[in-house]
Amino acid sequence: AQSDRESMFILNEYARDYFQKTLHAHPEGKAIGLSYFRERGLRDDIINKFQLGYSLEQRDAFSVEAQKAGYLRDYLLKTGLSTSGENNQPLYDRFRGRVIFPVHTLSGKVVAFGGRILKKAENTGKYVNSPESEIYSKSKELYGIYFAKNAIIKQDKCFLVEGYTDVLSMHQAGIENVVASSGTALTSGQIRMIRRFSNNITVIYDGDTAGINAAIRGIDLLLEEGMNVKVVMLPQGEDPDSFAKKQNAESFKRFIDSNEKDFIRFKTELLIEEVGDDPVKRAGMISNIVNSIALIPNTITRSVYIQECSQLLNIQELVLINEINKIRQRVW
Ligand code: ATP
Ligand code: MN
Ligand code: MN
Ligand code: MN
Repeated sequence: AQSDRESMFILNEYARDYFQKTLHAHPEGKAIGLSYFRERGLRDDIINKFQLGYSLEQRDAFSVEAQKAGYLRDYLLKTGLSTSGENNQPLYDRFRGRVIFPVHTLSGKVVAFGGRILKKAENTGKYVNSPESEIYSKSKELYGIYFAKNAIIKQDKCFLVEGYTDVLSMHQAGIENVVASSGTALTSGQIRMIRRFSNNITVIYDGDTAGINAAIRGIDLLLEEGMNVKVVMLPQGEDPDSFAKKQNAESFKRFIDSNEKDFIRFKTELLIEEVGDDPVKRAGMISNIVNSIALIPNTITRSVYIQECSQLLNIQELVLINEINKIRQRVW
């Protein structure tokens, strides 16, 4: 019901304020959470802007406080801020001893939280996130969109990164048109949200195998949704956050500007390394690239990419056109 959703938003706002207050005013929050952010080089203006917080180690600190403040068990469970064993068992907190990243909708409402552990733990995931709920569907939200939308419109371009801290570090470097897919596969709903503000997207995923594979998968969906897609490859082992921290804002921005590649050049250069001179593998690579081009809905854009591909791979345009037409007839 509508009032359910409303109550969940109000509770999330309370939780966001609570975690934020804990980070800045509680001795444990300051000593552990705030120093963690500072050690990572995050500035106070970014910590405040993104409303970052901290959840205490005590297993029910938040649940007890929220119930004292009058928030109902039902909503604590529905938002996933609290969990419980059996019916009527006491509540305990989902987020314990973690730094907290509130997740905002396009209009700035808090729909979820991500919490990161501070120490290397053996048996828990690095991040814990709010569960799906009446107000939160992970595949529909993009971390950072609320803080990015004006800059996306102004720059007519959106950067897509993997993680929370990548968004924060890019903001800190002065790049505000950035959102994160939060480590999951991009969805068409998320792409359409970006497309409301710009058709141009630049993917900067982590410079590891997982990141490169995710980028390649993401590219096809982006093309299918009619986006103009570029990619920045980071040095091996770096993500936008770690890489930005190794230099100053200016040199980071310069790197991005000069390493941005059109998706087709990115794919070609990436695949050509694996392929070498083997003609069979080379043919496989070409059909891989051709398959991506075939996804582009706009005829003119498609033909521009066919030209580009023809030059890059030294293949006659007509051959590519025939192949792409075959694929499109099959699919559509
Ligand atoms: P950090 O720099 O703090 O280590 P990161 O963002 O670089 O974080 P990655 O491992 O690159 O972390 O993961 C990218 C994103 O994927 C995270 O920001 C988070 O949104 C999501 N993620 C990572 N690990 C998990 C997990 N165990 N459970 C849920 N989401 C996760
Ligand atoms: Mn990664
Ligand atoms: Mn990362
Ligand atoms: Mn990182």
